[in-house]
Amino acid sequence: MKQLSYLPLEQLSNWLLEAYQQAKKGKLPDYIPLLKQTDPSLLAICIITENDNILIEGDSQITFPLMSIIKPFLLLYLLSKLGDNFIFQKVNSKPSNYPFNSLEQLQLDQGFPRNPMINSGALTLVSLLSGKDSNKRCHNLQQWLNKQSQSNLFLDELMLNSVESLPNPRNQAIIDELTQRNHIKDPEITLDTYNKICCLSGTIIDLAKLGLLLVNSSNISSENASIVRDIMTTCGLYQASEDFAEKIGFPSKSGVSGAILSIVPQQGAIACYSPPLDAQGNSVASSYLIRKIANYLI
Ligand code: GLN
Repeated sequence: MKQLSYLPLEQLSNWLLEAYQQAKKGKLPDYIPLLKQTDPSLLAICIITENDNILIEGDSQITFPLMSIIKPFLLLYLLSKLGDNFIFQKVNSKPSNYPFNSLEQLQLDQGFPRNPMINSGALTLVSLLSGKDSNKRCHNLQQWLNKQSQSNLFLDELMLNSVESLPNPRNQAIIDELTQRNHIKDPEITLDTYNKICCLSGTIIDLAKLGLLLVNSSNISSENASIVRDIMTTCGLYQASEDFAEKIGFPSKSGVSGAILSIVPQQGAIACYSPPLDAQGNSVASSYLIRKIANYLI
């Protein structure tokens, strides 16, 4: 396998030009008004290697909400606080062929969430965060992540207002189902906290630094990092996970804001951002770039 740190800059610049064209095939999500208004031509990539080499191209100053990319880091945080035995009594770690916000999947599984990378699993994990209210719970996670990764995640209040400006019947139905089955307490605080942690935001560099936590961080237990990487590999890109795992094989996680984070084990992290999404909710240009880099490395 070739080394991520030797990726030629010229090659990366060419892929970026192609990625701009690819992005035109995608669509902005319409259920969060501010995401619908994002400039679709934004594009950024940051590659950080474990020896702290950094490669950045594109709109590196732009901040964006992590959305579902917070899910592996929520899992990492709770594994470190509560341990894997406890966590996997609350959620499973199997892939799902249903969309990320599927109620049907949860019902088919008798209310036991399939994995922490989809909404039912993440909401269940959010209910385990400690703190008296949603502000405190979100803040605890934010602080821990910033401290461990030296990043500058912040809560984007405008984005949060936008998320809360329209009802989200799917997430509400998942919360109701989990509450009815006694899987979560405090449904309101849980949903508020979930919306807040999805609006934790940063630049492409912050995202790549978060990714490095899953490569070789001296502050993170290697067992926990490996649990999170394995679940990202099989579950990180929703229904596209299987295809991505077969063709790319890197632990990856996408979010509806258009970001994708991929981990190259023992080498580093690749963070990409481009808002237009494919039918499964994954950024078209970000997955294009990651495929190109993976094919180069392998
Ligand atoms: N906040 C979003 C939601 O639950 C996050 C989803 C995502 O990024 N796929 O709908």
